[in-house]
Amino acid sequence: MRGKESSTGGNSKWLHGLPEVRLEKCHLGVMTSEEVMEMSVLSITNTQAFDPLGTPSVDGLYDRRLGTVEVGVNCQTCGQSWAQCMGHMGHIELPCPVYNPLYFKDTLRLLQTICRRCTMLNIPNEQSDFFIAQMQLIYSGKLREMDELIQESKQYNDMEQFGVFIKEYKSKSSQNDLLEELTTSIIDVRADTVKKFYDDFFRKTLKRCCHCQSYIPVYRSERTLQILSSVRKGQKSLYHNRR
Ligand SMILES: [Zn+2]
Ligand SMILES: [Zn+2]
Repeated sequence: MRGKESSTGGNSKWLHGLPEVRLEKCHLGVMTSEEVMEMSVLSITNTQAFDPLGTPSVDGLYDRRLGTVEVGVNCQTCGQSWAQCMGHMGHIELPCPVYNPLYFKDTLRLLQTICRRCTMLNIPNEQSDFFIAQMQLIYSGKLREMDELIQESKQYNDMEQFGVFIKEYKSKSSQNDLLEELTTSIIDVRADTVKKFYDDFFRKTLKRCCHCQSYIPVYRSERTLQILSSVRKGQKSLYHNRR
C-alpha cells in the first residue's frame, strides 16, 4: 500500500496536527517469506502460551513483544500501553514446506489441469490463444477491440472453425504497445476475463490430455495436508500412460 502526504482538506479540529495521507494505490496479495521476516519482531518457538501463573510465556503466542492487552503492562517492542500499541507481527518457522490452506483448492485444480506427460495445460490451443489475445488487448488498453474480438468469436460454435478464426486473428494482429500502468477499469476487465477463463477450464476435470491423449490422474486431498494421485481405470501407470 502506498500513500502520499497531502496539504489539502482536513479542517476537523481533532485532526489538527496529524499528518494527512492520501491513498494512491492499494495492492492486495500474499506476502513473501522475506516480507514476513521483515515485519516480524519475534520467532514463536514456545508452544506454551501462558505459564502456570497466567503470565504470557517468552517466545509464546502471547509474548509481550507482540503487544499487550494487560492494563499496567507496556509492550516490550514499542513501550506503549495496551491502549496505544497496535500490536506487532511474529512468525513461526515451519520445519517442512506445507500447502497454503488459502490456495489449496486452486493448487488441486491446477494439478488436475496439467498433463504429467507433456506438462501442458489441458486446454485446447484455440482457447489458450483466444485468452492470450484478450490479455494482450487488455494490457494495451484496447478494451473496445477486445469486445469486438469476443463478439466475433461468438459466431463460431464449431471448434475447428473457431481455431481457423483465432489463427487468422493471430497472424493479422500486430504487436501492441503495453500500457505502463493499468487503470481501475482495465484491472476490473482483466479480473472478469481471468475469472471467466478460470471458470470455463479450471473447474472441469478432463480424463485425458487434449494435446497428447495421456490420462490425467485422479487427485484427491487429505484435508489440506497432502494431495494424493492415483491411476484411472484402464490406465497402466502414472508414468506409462499413453493410450
Ligand atoms: Zn507495541
Ligand atoms: Zn499431455
